[in-house]
Amino acid sequence: MSSHHKTALITGSTSGIGAGVAEKFAANKINVIITGLVDNQNNLDQFLEKLKSYGVAVSFIEANLTKDEDINLLVEKSLREFGYIDILVNNAGMQYVSGIVDFPQEKWDLILELNLTVAFKLIKKLLPPMRENKFGRIINIASAHGLVASANKSAYVASKHGLVGLTKVVALETAQENITANAICPGWVLTPLVKQQIDKISETENISYKQAEIKLLSEKQPSQQFVTPEQIAGLALFLSSDDAQQITGTTQLIDGGWTAQ
Ligand code: NAD
Repeated sequence: MSSHHKTALITGSTSGIGAGVAEKFAANKINVIITGLVDNQNNLDQFLEKLKSYGVAVSFIEANLTKDEDINLLVEKSLREFGYIDILVNNAGMQYVSGIVDFPQEKWDLILELNLTVAFKLIKKLLPPMRENKFGRIINIASAHGLVASANKSAYVASKHGLVGLTKVVALETAQENITANAICPGWVLTPLVKQQIDKISETENISYKQAEIKLLSEKQPSQQFVTPEQIAGLALFLSSDDAQQITGTTQLIDGGWTAQ
């Protein structure tokens, strides 16, 4: 594809979906900037080596995106090293599950900041160089929860609906500029973010992890199978290609039938 030698910045790429997108991009000759929090340095080092084995430039920049100074550093270092960011994948995100009355204010603030405001801040900073470069692909990893709700997820659902709305505005503001903005809306993907929720179901309902996993899937996802990071990455790669130039302002569902119900 013609995205040879392009560069992608993928937030939250030290784990889960973001790591899957980074690997698919690297395997397709797109330089990758990995950023996120670091849980395990050894695992990260191995992951970075694997990415480099695809023959692309790989850069790791540690950043806590809820801190403005870290966002500034991430953008400055990325532009200094690569010149342009062709593809921005806003993927970093978190979840917290609680009824609204007991929902801690600080969790609400943190989730809205990380899942929504950070995407706004990065788009605001990276759109001017994309315009200069006359090319840009902005991919926001929203969720089925960007279109429909579930109880006990007020901050997450609000943030993901907001991210879908932000995506549409960016698409309209860039519609004639060879820049696209789209949201990918996955259903359940078996990553640390979801494993925590399965653990919680298993604990509160006193059932095994496997039973909790089946319960989680059968409540929402008709396919009864998890979406994989690789499948999401394939969609992100397509949205980054020239063939997807007229796809903008859309929500791309990849949810095993969740939102068809
Ligand atoms: P994950 O927990 O495996 O990964 C989250 C990533 O975000 C990690 O790299 C982590 O370091 C990074 N991160 C967390 N807090 C951060 C902070 N303060 N600063 C910088 N980085 C931070 O989660 P995942 O399941 O891969 O989720 C990735 C995205 O996909 C999220 O936006 C999530 O809402 C969305 N999503 C996930 C699912 C799912 O079922 N797993 C479904 C739909 C949407």
